Amino acid sequence: MIPSLKEDCSKCAALCCLALTIDKGEHFAIDKPAGVPCPNLDGHGCRIHRWLRVEGFSGCTIYSCGGAGQRVTQELFAGQSWRDDMALKVPMMEAFRGMRAIQDRLAILVAAQDNLDLDASDAARVREMIGWLMPDALDFDLVRFFPESVEAAEIDLFLPGLRRYVTGRTLG
Ligand code: SF4
Repeated sequence: MIPSLKEDCSKCAALCCLALTIDKGEHFAIDKPAGVPCPNLDGHGCRIHRWLRVEGFSGCTIYSCGGAGQRVTQELFAGQSWRDDMALKVPMMEAFRGMRAIQDRLAILVAAQDNLDLDASDAARVREMIGWLMPDALDFDLVRFFPESVEAAEIDLFLPGLRRYVTGRTLG
């Protein structure tokens, strides 16, 4: 079954609020380096969640991890959190980076499979690549190193070729 491509913050350990760099500007009121928890973080929740735009954090309202956060937290770390064990901070961040790369590609491939009239060869290729992105058992190193993997490079080479199926419409 295709994992959810939509974020479920209730099953995540606030990985975006920890792992991502925030640059002060139009969408964020502060600078924050990767690996430093946002000062607005309260446990795994955001203490200004209801007022993000007013407080200058509109970027948080439009960001989506594509379901990467809950997959890392639940499937790779069995619901544990860097909040309870700081030794998990770096591994969870590394896994989050890799899982975002996986989920980004999975979303495009699933959209292509569902929406494009692929020929048999491309349909088989898309199925194969989706399989690479959702192995039976997720492995930490597979996820962590996915952005630099041969599979990621192959997918990235393959995807632009699907443009020929798109005539004035977008995937998904
Ligand atoms: S403002 Fe809230 S949602 Fe945005 S990064 Fe900080 S804690 Fe997360």
